[in-house]
Amino acid sequence: MAAAGEEGWRQRLVVVGGGVAGALVAKSLQFDSDVTLIDSKEYFEIPWAELRTMVEPSFGKRTVINHEDYLNNVRIIASKAVNISSTDVYTEDGCQVPYDYLVIATGHLDHVPKTKPERLNQYQSEYEKIKAARSILIVGGGPTGVELAGEIAVDFPDKKVTLVHSGPRLMEFIGPNASNKTLDWLRAKGVEVKLERSVNLQSLSAGSGKYQTSAGEMIEADCHFLCIGKPLGSSWLKGTTLEANLDKNGRLMVDEHLRVKGHKNIFAIGDITDIQEIKQGFLAQQHASKAAKNLQILLAGGNESKMVTYKPFGSAVAIVSLGRKEGVAQFPFSITMIGRVPGMIKSKDLFVGKTRKQLGLDPNGV
Ligand SMILES: Cc1cc2nc3c(=O)[nH]c(=O)nc-3n(C[C@H](O)[C@H](O)[C@H](O)COP(=O)(O)OP(=O)(O)OC[C@H]3O[C@@H](n4cnc5c(N)ncnc54)[C@H](O)[C@@H]3O)c2cc1C
Repeated sequence: MAAAGEEGWRQRLVVVGGGVAGALVAKSLQFDSDVTLIDSKEYFEIPWAELRTMVEPSFGKRTVINHEDYLNNVRIIASKAVNISSTDVYTEDGCQVPYDYLVIATGHLDHVPKTKPERLNQYQSEYEKIKAARSILIVGGGPTGVELAGEIAVDFPDKKVTLVHSGPRLMEFIGPNASNKTLDWLRAKGVEVKLERSVNLQSLSAGSGKYQTSAGEMIEADCHFLCIGKPLGSSWLKGTTLEANLDKNGRLMVDEHLRVKGHKNIFAIGDITDIQEIKQGFLAQQHASKAAKNLQILLAGGNESKMVTYKPFGSAVAIVSLGRKEGVAQFPFSITMIGRVPGMIKSKDLFVGKTRKQLGLDPNGV
């Protein structure tokens, strides 16, 4: 590692993962060091706007943002990181990228196209699929499945939507009160919700329009959407120098400064960390901001004792949108609310303007 302040030398910071946390940390530090962002795609995408984009593809012009549009002073490598040593990151495209400091922010893996035009085309196809279908099956009753069911039920009230969930209640990450209110809301909109059964995945791939559940029933639908959560983006660390730092769930174990335990120059932020709190974008942004502060201190040759600490959020605040105007919210002490008030907070613009502003972009621009 080069000495800070050495003539003409800038410390090399590599950020792996250009999602909610990685995009923000790269932007925050782009003038403090020589920054490289390695992301599997050329763009940052606002994850909580995905489902609106499926029913309104033009929404994606604001929510899918090329990394080069908000990063002015960062080298961008659009390729998967596949290996890491104590000095370098290696990518699928054959790049070897040396680092003095490293931030790992590979939250979740998403099998999405590499370029923005391809991603927007994919949204257009999903929209066409929904528009053409008379009946739609959604597999998975977590926040993604619920938000998708809400979007379709509100924008296409004539479609027959069936939501199948393996658990005893919807969105088990929040309290039963919020789950039950959401169930009532969906049923009132005509969505058929089937709990405590799974859909045979082989019947999904058969493309016959007939889907068998574990309860033995047959569901007929013109198309289906699988909303069963994305895999954690840490499998690339297996067999590397950081393998021993993964916990049994595949999450990177970090200290109170958000450094990977036992590594003075490697940070991990966002969903990939083992921090005991609900995994959410606004918390990933908090991690990014704390890690950026600590890195600023280290990059300037400051004393480690000046680093700030991150304290996990004890109580969950969660807002799940239910179409364009309504939502369900859970606040601390399990206070829940459903309808227009949470809808006013989240559902109209889905925090898109706010997120674009954080990246230094015009909130309403495309
Ligand atoms: C449908 C949906 C709705 C949500 N709604 C909300 C909400 O309303 N509020 C909220 O706070 N949170 C919400 N969340 C959760 C939030 O999106 C996540 O907590 C947040 O995205 C985590 O950020 P991250 O940077 O850790 O990971 P991610 O945003 O998942 O980013 C990871 C990045 O790393 C890249 N990557 C992965 N592996 C590699 C690799 N090997 N090499 C290079 N790049 C790699 C990925 O392509 C991606 O760009 C929602 C999530 C979803 C899916």
